[in-house]
Amino acid sequence: MNNATFTELLFGPAGSFFMYSMLIVIIVMTLLVSLRLLITRRKVGYLSMVIALVILIVQYGQLVAHAVTQTQSDAGTFTALLLKLLAFVLLNIGIYQLYNATRKRDMAIFFLFLAGTAAISLTYWSIPEWLQENMEQTSLLRPLFMELYLFILLFVSFLLVGPRIGQNGKYQIMLTVYFAAHMLHMANVYLFDDKQPYLKLSEQTIPFLFHIVLFLFIFERVIEIMQAIYNSSITDGLTKLYNRKYFFSRVTQYIEGRVPVSVIFSDIDNFKKLNDTKGHQTGDAMLKQVAQIMKEETADAGLCGRYGGEELVVLVTDPDTDPAELAERIRARVERESIVTVSMGYSRSKKGVTADELVKQADEAMYEAKTSGKNKVVGL
Ligand code: GH3
Ligand code: MG
Ligand code: MG
Repeated sequence: MNNATFTELLFGPAGSFFMYSMLIVIIVMTLLVSLRLLITRRKVGYLSMVIALVILIVQYGQLVAHAVTQTQSDAGTFTALLLKLLAFVLLNIGIYQLYNATRKRDMAIFFLFLAGTAAISLTYWSIPEWLQENMEQTSLLRPLFMELYLFILLFVSFLLVGPRIGQNGKYQIMLTVYFAAHMLHMANVYLFDDKQPYLKLSEQTIPFLFHIVLFLFIFERVIEIMQAIYNSSITDGLTKLYNRKYFFSRVTQYIEGRVPVSVIFSDIDNFKKLNDTKGHQTGDAMLKQVAQIMKEETADAGLCGRYGGEELVVLVTDPDTDPAELAERIRARVERESIVTVSMGYSRSKKGVTADELVKQADEAMYEAKTSGKNKVVGL
């Protein structure tokens, strides 16, 4: 390859074509990840992000077309700029919505900025006669207000979105990169007459950095949200212990794998009376406290779940933990630290015993503890 063609490749239309096509690939990947979130969550809030990314694809598609045809009309420049502004506004709205529920007040602000963008874009077509000295000057002047407006949008994003999406360094990096790209673009157009090839090249490369960080940013957030959805589907909201369905599935998993385990079944004593005399809130608080004690005591021995109203269960998976001792430790701590007591029963798995039967046996042992005086541990 000789030098001329290399320069041509790098700075010429082929270079632009390649750069913009690659960018489109990255944006499509970001779009796919966002779509996944939109589809699984079915929350309209995630729509802005998707629309923003589609607009970006159209915008870079237009730049690819421009690189191929090498023609650019006034209307073309205008559309490109408008799409760029809209994409930026929607992207930031989308990022805000990834972290916040959208309230009515937010909607008002979103529309304000979208309307502002529309209003500013009118300036493109309304340069007064006396300013239009020559063609070249006019073509420089026309996009100026839209370009400057982007700086305002950047500033507003820093101020409004930044603090509302948690400590997020990536967002700051993204805005800084975008700012740098826009500064370069302005310098290139207004100071160097769009003739500085290296400036032009950096103007094309910096968006790569922006879109890679954007992809990582959204990808990470999507994983976070998916993880949260999964977690809430297997845990109980009040006690934060596993719910019955998940707990049972884990018991089944161990039993089917023929791993020796035991189940501890516990039920708070006279809970109805506590609710009646001290109120439901105190009842809830006690339930939480007992759950917390259980969780702490079981940390290395197995897992805890909420089987029903005030029935908490433990699956002991650690072979060195004696369920009788563990249950007694929990019982004693509850008696010592809270205003309630618990009755507990446990059962060890044996050959041929199903998960269902194992839990039932522990329940029966607990029932025996209830009928023989409460606040005690009974093994089966
Ligand atoms: P026993 O010693 O025989 O277990 O008596 P008990 O009153 O605890 O047993 P019972 O099953 O009659 O009552 C359980 C009560 O637990 C009934 C219900 O009002 C209460 N309960 C169930 N879930 C919750 C909850 O999430 N929060 C509160 N505060 N109470 C609950
Ligand atoms: Mg009870
Ligand atoms: Mg009960």
